[in-house]
Amino acid sequence: MKKKDREKFAALLNDMRKSILREIQQDVKAERDGEASEGRDTYDIASDERDREINLLLGDRERRKLQQTDDALQRLETGEYGLCDECGGEIALGRLEAMPFSRLCVTCQDEFEQTQRTMRPNSTVMASPRLQATDSDEDTQ
Ligand SMILES: [Zn+2]
Repeated sequence: MKKKDREKFAALLNDMRKSILREIQQDVKAERDGEASEGRDTYDIASDERDREINLLLGDRERRKLQQTDDALQRLETGEYGLCDECGGEIALGRLEAMPFSRLCVTCQDEFEQTQRTMRPNSTVMASPRLQATDSDEDTQ
């Protein structure tokens, strides 16, 4: 990946990171406003207490997004960003722009999704005989 592209994605990812953090802080503020209206002085809490509070309020979705952003920024620094985890090939820039967290190229992603699709019908087939067995058991009782 070219230096210019790396800088572009670094800026993009830093922006995303900031907006996630802002979302989280708004959640924290809303929570603290709620507590304040109950007559508790929550504005005076120590910063480590506040950090703990932020961690508690961090939803799974936000935490995962933050983790993905950090991962991508880390990979930008090590030069791994934009390379497919599976085949090591370059991921198309257009794909990265649409999904900055992509770790697979289009080809490997397609293969991955096909594998997931073919796995599902198998588990349904496995379950069917057991369901029929249960039905006939009920009939004999
Ligand atoms: Zn690949």
